[in-house]
Amino acid sequence: MATMTETPHLTLDLDAPGVRLGHLVVPKGHDYEALSLPVFSINRGEGPRLLITGGIHGDELEGPIVARRLMDWLPEAQTCGRVIIAPEINPLAVQAWTRNTPVDGKNLNRVFPGRADGSVSERIADAVSRILLPMADTVFDLHSFGPTWDFPPAVVTHPIADADLMAKTVWMAEAFKMPVTLIWEHPDRVGMLDTWAHSQGKVIAVTELGGGGVGAEALAIYEDGVRNGLIALGLVKGRSAAPTFRHQNSSRTLKKLLSDELRSPARGIFDPRSSVLDEVKQGDLIGVLHPMDSLSAGSIEIYAPSTSIVCGMRCGGYVEAGENIFYLAGTHKSSVASSE
Ligand SMILES: [Zn+2]
Repeated sequence: MATMTETPHLTLDLDAPGVRLGHLVVPKGHDYEALSLPVFSINRGEGPRLLITGGIHGDELEGPIVARRLMDWLPEAQTCGRVIIAPEINPLAVQAWTRNTPVDGKNLNRVFPGRADGSVSERIADAVSRILLPMADTVFDLHSFGPTWDFPPAVVTHPIADADLMAKTVWMAEAFKMPVTLIWEHPDRVGMLDTWAHSQGKVIAVTELGGGGVGAEALAIYEDGVRNGLIALGLVKGRSAAPTFRHQNSSRTLKKLLSDELRSPARGIFDPRSSVLDEVKQGDLIGVLHPMDSLSAGSIEIYAPSTSIVCGMRCGGYVEAGENIFYLAGTHKSSVASSE
């Protein structure tokens, strides 16, 4: 039987003015049928070109929710430019509430720019890279930290070699006015959407929000942060304000080095003795790991290796030996302070 080779395509005209709804079609492959990813676009003519993606990881529902909320008010509020919103770029993982795509077991955020003849995750990445990404200068990729981490509302960027692009990226990240802007030294950046977007000269803001589940307060902060980003780009009029998080409305820029990742010394249950955004001193007790297989194995105390800020912490889920349990961070001079 002859098979027609389909290529990724849109069912809507993004160049048409006004509001458009449609899909990005990811072709059928050897492992799965064709997928139709929902796409929403608002074209108000000249101005910034922004792509907003959500649902790259299926157990991070805050992104798709905030992307859907934007559909309620952005058509009224947007005064110029073009915004393309793809709220759920990995529907297979979102429907399964799993980080990785269940069909091929792959992490969509490690296979960019994808392959047209690859597995379903690679075909999604290929479609997004080839069709959506070239239509934007700036990307907001809406993640959260997933159900097993406590993490403050944050915009994360990785250090990049191009100093000009790095400055623009940090400016964009700080414009969200989230409680934390985090410069994250990461050991495994190949195949990430942000790595690929940076290689194409795009500014990308990756938002992260943890807390063990989807909650109204966290979603409000997240939505405010995205609105601040839209205001900073000039797509929406208004005054941006730092959202209130745990009775504070401050924003700070932090830097996490590879050495700021603490791993679990054993298999067991993690017992936190500090909270996210705590400032801890070297030698402070910040958590305890309880091995449970044998109670004769004593609990293991975990101390802060240096004076730092607790940026992320495991919550929920049995911890294996060697898994990350803490992300600590230090302060970083913000671009606002350095541009004076
Ligand atoms: Zn994610």
